[in-house]
Amino acid sequence: MSDEVKGHRPRKRFGQNFLRAPHVVEQILAAAELSPGAQVVEIGPGPGALTDRLLAAGAEVTAFEVDRDLAAALERRGDAHLAVHLGDVLKADWPALLVRPPYRLVANLPYNISSQVLFKILDHRPLFSRLVLMFQKEVGERLLAAPATRDYGILSVLVQNWYEVARVVKVPPGCFFPPPKVESVVLRFDPRPQPLAPVADEAAFRRLVKAVFAQRRKTLRNGLLGAGYDAAAVDRALAAVGLPAAVRGETLSIRALAALAAALGAAGFPLDSPPDVG
Ligand code: SAM
Repeated sequence: MSDEVKGHRPRKRFGQNFLRAPHVVEQILAAAELSPGAQVVEIGPGPGALTDRLLAAGAEVTAFEVDRDLAAALERRGDAHLAVHLGDVLKADWPALLVRPPYRLVANLPYNISSQVLFKILDHRPLFSRLVLMFQKEVGERLLAAPATRDYGILSVLVQNWYEVARVVKVPPGCFFPPPKVESVVLRFDPRPQPLAPVADEAAFRRLVKAVFAQRRKTLRNGLLGAGYDAAAVDRALAAVGLPAAVRGETLSIRALAALAAALGAAGFPLDSPPDVG
């Protein structure tokens, strides 16, 4: 930790578990494959373990940090290659602030907001050419999961459709201060040149995927009806894509889910107030 923030006590509410393992920092750096002058976004630089290495590698770093003291300490460095935005990254206006795409996104994410960060990344995919992100192990497993496995779910489908996801390194609690209660994992995400399944209406696709996995124990048809989809439209769509009504949603490939979303179309969801699409 740099001198300026020596007195800083890690704040639980900001998910502060600071990296203290140089070999993990090096593996994150290697996975990012930065060329000098690369544009990098870092979420939650904290005291700067990763930031220092990114800058040493010649990157131009744009950082989002919610902790006033840590952001101020980074600002005090006066490094011309580091821009620090104080505030909640989830509320930041990325298109207005990230004006030199494409960026590499590198972060030891606060675990309490990692899914929300992923959804925001999905909403701004063209900004990023690669992501190297730390997650708690269970979230990492969901991101890597294949259909019909225990961990396959909303995140697996929505992320894998657009990204090839690979494990970089497992990180035990002792690599952080303070040590978290859970294991962690660093993943690398490379945008696919084409999505696994083309999706014309992303909001409708997201809504369908959420509905399917919200009711894992139900059959696909019952799950969709439970989520408010119109029965006749569901039956028509299942027939159109050749799926039996009793199939379980969690066994469906990303392509099958996308085909079902397309077949359902707008007609599948006639309610006045559709569920949250997150
Ligand atoms: N990158 C540092 C490291 O590896 O040692 C810190 C990682 S720590 C797990 C997460 C960091 O994200 C903390 O510095 C925390 O203050 C910051 N943070 C938490 N919530 C945030 C938010 N909503 N927006 C921006 N930064 C946030």
